[in-house]
Amino acid sequence: MKSNTNDLVCQGESVYSDKINIYSTPSAVKNRERSRQYYYDHLEEVKAKNKIYRTKNLSNRKACLEVLNAKYLSAWTKYFKSIYGNQPICEVCGKKLLWSVDNPNIKSKDRICFDHRYNQTPINCIPAIWYRSRPCIDKYQKIWVQCHFGLLCGQCNVCLPTKNRKTWLENINRYVGKTNETM
Ligand SMILES: [Zn+2]
Repeated sequence: MKSNTNDLVCQGESVYSDKINIYSTPSAVKNRERSRQYYYDHLEEVKAKNKIYRTKNLSNRKACLEVLNAKYLSAWTKYFKSIYGNQPICEVCGKKLLWSVDNPNIKSKDRICFDHRYNQTPINCIPAIWYRSRPCIDKYQKIWVQCHFGLLCGQCNVCLPTKNRKTWLENINRYVGKTNETM
């Protein structure tokens, strides 16, 4: 282990021949070894402290994300209204849809859902997660338009799979056809 440390010092000096590699200087190596030793000597104590820090930081991080979400969401909703209108309709069942920003207590089945018409689009994840974590700027608006998302109500969106959609619809047609034959 000792020889490895020395090798590290030599490697650092040879790679950065005209500069000093700050991570490989004898004092840096010594400090690192001291920290490592402290970690193993106080393992339980360090773990407990880390747990407290993570818990504390998590709530800060969540609060930070909420602020960002609210900030981006209102800008995106304004943009969506400019392209889809104030009260768009579900492209499958024709139901009038409401924007959740204006109607926070809206039921999930009446909520506007952006539907992946195709498997491969520039935005592959859930659209709401994508736009909530990005500012509504020209660059991202262009990506959004390229996806040609469909507008569905929550109920139709749940019923319609994205993968193998055509096959699924053919199967439904076949099933409905069979049902009609037996009536
Ligand atoms: Zn619908």
